[in-house]
Amino acid sequence: MASDKGILIVLSGFSGSGKGTVVKHLLAKYPQDFALSVSATTRSPREGEEEGVSYFFRSREQFEQMIAQGELLEYAEYVGNYYGTPLSYVREKLAAGQNVILEIETQGAMKVKAEHPDTLLLFMTPPDAGELIRRLKNRGTEDDATITARMKQAAEETRVMDAYDYIVVNDDVDACAQKILSIIQCEKSSAKRNPELIEKFRLGLQDILKGE
Ligand code: 5GP
Repeated sequence: MASDKGILIVLSGFSGSGKGTVVKHLLAKYPQDFALSVSATTRSPREGEEEGVSYFFRSREQFEQMIAQGELLEYAEYVGNYYGTPLSYVREKLAAGQNVILEIETQGAMKVKAEHPDTLLLFMTPPDAGELIRRLKNRGTEDDATITARMKQAAEETRVMDAYDYIVVNDDVDACAQKILSIIQCEKSSAKRNPELIEKFRLGLQDILKGE
């Protein structure tokens, strides 16, 4: 049997790629398999966002205190605000064998990968650049300056896309969630994630041969 250990999964993607929607779909369909880390941020809540569900909304002072106390697995500044991943939840869920998803931007992703090399890095995109801009404008939750800042940010992010393990194109929510699930299933069967299984065969066969 392939590894049943939880995998730490980083999902990044352009603002407007539909990450949030795909992740919600994945969690609703496979609640046993996945845990979504809730981040802390200093940005203001958008309409409909809930404390402790969408984010832990914190002041800059509170956030800086979390950094100082070593409570974050990683953090980054993105379009003028801090975003960070609380460490305790991630540890707890991985230990319980769940796959933990961090929906975070690229700087944070690189930090997590540097500290935890077995992290699976996924980058989500819409089908093309025109569609990305259309989705950003249609979201209707941000002013023009923020939309422009997010487009510039997306252009910057293209520089690190090739550091990711997989690029996942989101042209349909369900198909995209299935693609992510397949990637995770393949990863779990990878040789690098199954050293114990390999060792068990080595030792098991050695023992049998000794008895011959
Ligand atoms: P938004 O303001 O649209 O909710 O998020 C802006 C960006 O911050 C997105 O790319 C999102 O994935 C990223 N982000 C959310 N939480 C975290 C986090 O804990 N750490 C990092 N590094 N990025 C995050």
